[in-house]
Order: sequence, then C-alpha cells, then structure tokens
Amino acid sequence: VPSDEEMWDIVEHHLVRYGGSFAPMLIERARGSYLYDRQGRKILDFTSGQMCATLGHNHPDVVQAIHKACEDVLHLFSGMLSPAVIELADSLCQLLPPTLQKALFLNTGSEANEAALRMAKLHTGGFEVVGLSASWHGMTAGASASTFVSARKGYGPAIPGNLALPTPNCYRCPIRHCQDQCDMTCLEVGFDLVDSQSVGAYAALIVEPVLSAGGVVVPPEGYFQRLQGYCQERSMLLILDEAQTAFGRLGSFFAFEQLGMVPDILTLSKTLGGGLPLAATVTSEAIEADCYEKGFIYYTSHVSDPMPAAVGLAVLRVLTSQNLTEQAATMGTYLKNGLLKLKDRYEAIGDVRGRGLLLGVELVKDRTTREPDPETGAAITRRCLELGLSMNITALPGMGSVWRIAPPLTVTYEELDEGLAILEQAIRDCR
Ligand code: PMP
Repeated sequence: VPSDEEMWDIVEHHLVRYGGSFAPMLIERARGSYLYDRQGRKILDFTSGQMCATLGHNHPDVVQAIHKACEDVLHLFSGMLSPAVIELADSLCQLLPPTLQKALFLNTGSEANEAALRMAKLHTGGFEVVGLSASWHGMTAGASASTFVSARKGYGPAIPGNLALPTPNCYRCPIRHCQDQCDMTCLEVGFDLVDSQSVGAYAALIVEPVLSAGGVVVPPEGYFQRLQGYCQERSMLLILDEAQTAFGRLGSFFAFEQLGMVPDILTLSKTLGGGLPLAATVTSEAIEADCYEKGFIYYTSHVSDPMPAAVGLAVLRVLTSQNLTEQAATMGTYLKNGLLKLKDRYEAIGDVRGRGLLLGVELVKDRTTREPDPETGAAITRRCLELGLSMNITALPGMGSVWRIAPPLTVTYEELDEGLAILEQAIRDCR
C-alpha cells in the first residue's frame, strides 16, 4: 500500500482538481458522526459528507441493504423492474400527499432536476425557467442554467430562457430595501423584472426551501405561498428541490410541510441514498400522464437500479422507525442555542440562522457594516479541521461567508458539545 506521501503524489499527478483544494488528510473509515484518517485520527463531521449521510456514516441498515443487493441483483436493463424499486415507490408515496404520487428514480440531484424541468416543459409547452439568483440545482446543462452564475464561470452561456429572481436574503437584502423587517418587495419587484424579460413561454420555477449552498438563506415567512401564487397566475409549475432538506433535516419529514404549500414537482436526492447515489423526481398522476402522452421524459443507464433502491428503502425505514425528524428538531434547537451563545461572545459572528439541523453562521468584519470576512472564515475552517472538526464554508459574491453546519440527524448531545467547543477554540486561535 502506498504511503501518504506517495498517495498525495498520485493525487497531484492524476486527479482533476474539481473544486477548491482537497482536505489534507486521507479518510479511510467512517462511522456515525466521525471520519477516521489513515493514522486513525478522529474527525467529527458537521457536513454529513456532501449532505448525504443523514443517518450518519455507514449506518448498519444501509450496509446490510447493500450486502443483500449484492447477493440479489445490482443492475438491470432500463425497462426492467425489481421488487426493490416498486417497494421504494410505494413507501415514498405513502409519505407524500395525493398530488405527489408518481416517482422516477435516478442517481443524482442534477438528474432529478433535469427530469423535473423536462416534465414541466412537456406539460406546459413553455421553455422559460425562473430560479433564484443564489440557488444550486446541479451541474448538468438545465440544472446549472438556474444555478448561481459563478458555478457556470468559463462554461459559456446558459441555455436560453432562464430568468433569475433576487434571493430573499433578509440579512443582506438584495434590493437594499429593508433591514431585518422584510415585506417581500424583492419578490414583487423581482417578478416584475422577470415578467418584463419573459416572452410568455413560462414552464417552471425551481427553488430550494432553504438556499443551502447559497449561504443557508431562509426565505421569509409566507414567501413560498406567494411564490406559488405567482406561478399559478402564470400557469407555470413550481418545482421544489429538496435535495438537502427532505427526510427530516429541517425538523419535518419534508420541508414543504413547513412552507404551507405542495409543489407540482418535488425533487429528492442526497439524503435518500444514505451516501449512495439515489434521487427521485415526484409529481402528480395527471402531469405524469400528460408527459407520457406528449413525449419522452428522462432516464439514464442507472434509472430504477435495484441496489440504490434497496438502500433508499432502508433509509426510509430507519428515518421513520427511529423518529429522526423529531431528533433533528430537538438537536437543531440545542445546536442553534450553542451557536447563538458563540455569537454573544464573538463579534466575528454576524448572524446565526437556519432550521432544524441545517444551520448557517455568517462571519463579518464588522456587525454594523456586515462586511463579509471570507479570509477569517477560511482560516477558522482550516483550524477546525486540525482540531478534529469538519466544517463547510460557502462564500458567494454578495452572499457573505457562511458556515453550513449540518451534522447527521443521529448526532448526540456530546458530539454537538464537542463540535461547539472545537469551533470556539478555533475562533479564539484565529483572532
Ligand atoms: N440541488 C441541491 C439543492 C443541491 O444542494 C445539489 C448538490 N449540491 C444538487 C441539487 C445537485 O445534486 P448532485 O450534485 O447530486 O447532482
């Protein structure tokens, strides 16, 4: 087995650097809330991997489902089904309202959104898609067209017909209209602007319940109901991207339960596979039937694959049997209180926000001017990792520098205390 040094040499010569830099350790094992590097050093994971390990890493039921699928069947021709995918459709749809009863199973969030956009275009006959300026919906052409602009840098123009609404970030009002007391003028003015650019061919609006990669932005109370009203007036479909928020993370099984509306199309990914690639696009029987009549929706080589489906089924069983939704609400409140105490002690923390176990901590140079502080944010994040805590910081132009704190839903009080203590130590070390 190559040494660490040899491994890093291979990384340097043979791996594409797809994002920022790689963390300076190699993870060999993971269990629950912890990662273990090659030297056996323990790292507390407050990122749930890439937001997928909701049940903690290597949950025994997930591992068992993988083992069983290895014995049974791994992969099939796209037109052939296994019992696992049918049971998953049944279990998932039992958790959803009557207008979300037809599911398509794919692998990634990008694919699920791509399929949703195709459905909306087929159903409405339109092609225009409205998204929020700081959203993240994936890297494929359609999904990335409504994803924030910096993700497309160097890629050239997005596909035509995509229109952006300002992100309703109440800590940094996009239209500099209100501070802390939102009247949703950004939505009204934003839609006026979008309408003025539309050629009258709306298909869909796509949105996340909490704009996670965009800086854990929680739209104001009532925002989504108004958004749905705007969509209905324009006969466009509302696609809700619950890649990160579904399955308990916000303290309800689905985020839309907290938003006072049901979307026309719901997309699910990340959390559904418990660490394996599994995604779903769910819509009504009427929309599905209409799309089926009109054309070809979407599938890939791994549509309906038996192994991820078996894993998804295990994930749903664990979530419901272990009451992880309530757990997320309880642990989220505890963690948020801990973060608010840190805010009381450290001027660098300008804002603490979020719902359930999806929390954002915004760093500023000055609380009055709210000037973002990405440099200190990066330094503290590095220090946390040295001290044994993995944290994710996002810094989009105009959106501040924000830690996204999202441990697995199975996290314990002791682990939360440990993470808060490391974070405080790191803040002190970097002052
Ligand atoms: N939607 C949201 C809200 C996401 O956070 C992501 C991934 N960051 C995606 C879609 C894209 O999912 P994937 O990377 O699995 O294609």
